[in-house]
Amino acid sequence: MKRKKIIIGNWKMYNGPEQGHIFLHKLEEKLNNKKINCDFAIAAPFVTLPYIMPHDHGTNKGIEIDLCAQNFHYQNEGAFTGEISLAMLEQLGVRYGIVGHSERRQYFNETNKTVNLKLKAALNSSIIPVMAFGETLEEFEKNQTDDVILKQLTEGLKEINKTQIERIIFAYEPIWAIGTGKTATPKQAQKTIKKTREIIANIYDQKTAEKVRIQYGGSVKVENIKELMEQKDIDGALVGGASVDPDSFFKLITYDQN
Ligand code: PEP
Repeated sequence: MKRKKIIIGNWKMYNGPEQGHIFLHKLEEKLNNKKINCDFAIAAPFVTLPYIMPHDHGTNKGIEIDLCAQNFHYQNEGAFTGEISLAMLEQLGVRYGIVGHSERRQYFNETNKTVNLKLKAALNSSIIPVMAFGETLEEFEKNQTDDVILKQLTEGLKEINKTQIERIIFAYEPIWAIGTGKTATPKQAQKTIKKTREIIANIYDQKTAEKVRIQYGGSVKVENIKELMEQKDIDGALVGGASVDPDSFFKLITYDQN
């Protein structure tokens, strides 16, 4: 089955409204009349999201940068100071939301349990969840990758049914490769993403597993994206550092045209 690639830039805590506005301008210039073959989105900081909405939404002149949230709360509303709900993101026209990014797991108490709650909440909204998972360096070196991702997927996907799971985008991100400049080799990334598809086939079925898109993330850049995207099971990339600059992001989303 042919799955359309999806490239999402994760800006983390970079690019505020001013930089976002400039980025949008530059990217729009580059994208003018250019055909992009993959889906693409930017996960900007919450305050920046309104500033990277295409100016000419609704006309056929410009591009559509899909918006992605880096995080969201699983409750609709409530006394949760500092949090953002899915309903709020919907009002902005946000299309995707990252769940379980390793930095959220590491610094903000995101667990498989909260990942599960967030996935279920997103699946009841119009936001498409992007579920990030992956092993630490220590787990990688101890050869525990398969066990770790099995646990993350099994617990994260608890009580989510076959129809719902097709809406989830998966992002395999070995923690040792995030922001470190160390990329998993295309072969390593392919191996674990293939394993991920097998796990999904075991929980659901083969047909479902063939349908879901699984990205790779971890020091993806202009120089290595093509080879990663050529791997059979890799359906896109979640890119941090290399997505912050418009030239680099443009090259990433046109990797197949160079
Ligand atoms: C990320 O933020 O998900 C990521 C993969 O970062 P980087 O590309 O900088 O490693």
